[in-house]
Amino acid sequence: DAVVHWFKCDLRITDNKALHLASAKAKSRSVPLICIHIVSPQDYKAHVTSAVRVDFVLRTLEVLKEDLAQLDIPLYVETVAKRKAIPNRIFELCEKWGASHLYTNIEYEVDELRREALMTRTGVSNGVAVHAVPDTCVVAPGELSSGTGNQYSVYSPWFRAWLAYLHTHPHQLDLFDPPNKNPEDARRNFKDLFECEIPEAPENKNLTDEEKKRFRSMWPPGEHEARERLGKFLSEKVHHYADARNIPAGNSTAIVSVHLSSGTLSARTAVAAARDANSTKKLDGGEKGIVGWISEVAWRDFYKHVLAHWPYVCMNKPFKPEYTNIQWEYNNELFQKWCTGMTGYPFIDAAMRQLNHTGYMHNRARMAVASFLAKDLLIDWRMGERYFMEHLIDGDFASNNGGWGFSASTGVDPQPYFRIFNPLLQSERFDADGEYIRKWVKELEGIEGKAIHDPYGRKATKAAEKAGYPKMCVDHKESRERCLKRYKEGLGRD
Ligand code: FAD
Repeated sequence: DAVVHWFKCDLRITDNKALHLASAKAKSRSVPLICIHIVSPQDYKAHVTSAVRVDFVLRTLEVLKEDLAQLDIPLYVETVAKRKAIPNRIFELCEKWGASHLYTNIEYEVDELRREALMTRTGVSNGVAVHAVPDTCVVAPGELSSGTGNQYSVYSPWFRAWLAYLHTHPHQLDLFDPPNKNPEDARRNFKDLFECEIPEAPENKNLTDEEKKRFRSMWPPGEHEARERLGKFLSEKVHHYADARNIPAGNSTAIVSVHLSSGTLSARTAVAAARDANSTKKLDGGEKGIVGWISEVAWRDFYKHVLAHWPYVCMNKPFKPEYTNIQWEYNNELFQKWCTGMTGYPFIDAAMRQLNHTGYMHNRARMAVASFLAKDLLIDWRMGERYFMEHLIDGDFASNNGGWGFSASTGVDPQPYFRIFNPLLQSERFDADGEYIRKWVKELEGIEGKAIHDPYGRKATKAAEKAGYPKMCVDHKESRERCLKRYKEGLGRD
């Protein structure tokens, strides 16, 4: 007999609900615990997972495998070509190992949720009790509902309910409870599992040697790195978070999204650590930076709750059905300018180049470029959503879809459609000294003062032209008018 834990987006040992339940079950039955992870090229394709993210996951699996081996627990990793074949392959492995219990943490995307339900149902006939448990959120989807019994579609009241829930259900962390040691003969019995290799990235998710070098030095994998980052943030940067979190050049955020999205950091651990760092030892009240940061981590929960409750957001549909009729543009030339950071708007270009070079973009910049694509260029926001997934190391369906819906005003609790960011004002406000622009837009490095925001504008010099920096691809004033008109038409409000 054995108990199996199936790792997905929960690539950690610490504070991992399904893993700990699996461990407790194995302990109570005195049977070995076996861990598995399935690499699914078809899932990567379907979810538009970026190559940099796949590389991060595979490197994290190396760390996880080593950590588990220290506890005499094997991590078996296998590639399964067809995603539909995954449930049966897992049942097959359970049968081979004589495992009658399978534990896993729930994923809330539509296909994944269906798969968890199917496996729970069909496990019985395969002789396996499947336990799919909520883990990824601080408060599980389904726990909060408004006075009328519905899921909230506005963040603020939802957040108040989230806090109230945590006041009455203080969350318990399995912080220092490693899974049980396997029986001594585990190494001998599961020798081939201990010795299995972590696969290479599938062909269409390969990085070049240059990219491997670049990304690997930027993004060390694994849960130890995640906790170290969190600890450093909470002892140093969080004190400036309230004032500086909107400044992309400020290096004032935690940069833990890659860890939260691949599960090398548990959101519960993150929130509990922030709470404990607060002078009040509470989630609200006390230090502004900490309270603000907790409310940002809560946005992640919020979007997962939305996804679980309104699964059609997974199906390329806007959250607000009345936005279905907006006539989007599909101008590939303009889209390519946006993708490559050649729009002629320095703040927008800096942001896109940061994404392309690092696999990450600051939140303020994400909002600015998303608004620019959807409103200034009127390009279908789903093309931007997809481009983000193709390039982000922290790509997470719910947060990405939520962020795009917010920025394009088509989503849950969105910016009103008539609020259109002015890309030049965003630049002056959030990159006043042009530090972010100079870092990422090398052509503009030598431009001093305010001209950096608008290098062909009133204070222009010849520098931008000489360096080959493009002129603005659209005029914001005109595109603003066009956008208002188009949204009104789409909404039938003209
Ligand atoms: P911090 O400011 O330190 O915040 C801590 C954590 O809180 C983040 O790691 C993240 O998990 C969560 N968080 C913060 N802001 C948000 C937010 N607005 N929405 C949801 N969660 C939030 N985040 C992703 O993890 N994956 C995505 O694919 C993603 N796509 C986005 C697309 C758009 C258009 C927008 C506007 C935002 C997107 N975000 C996404 C949210 C946010 O930009 C990133 O989580 C944040 O920039 C990560 O940096 P950090 O860890 O330093 O954040």
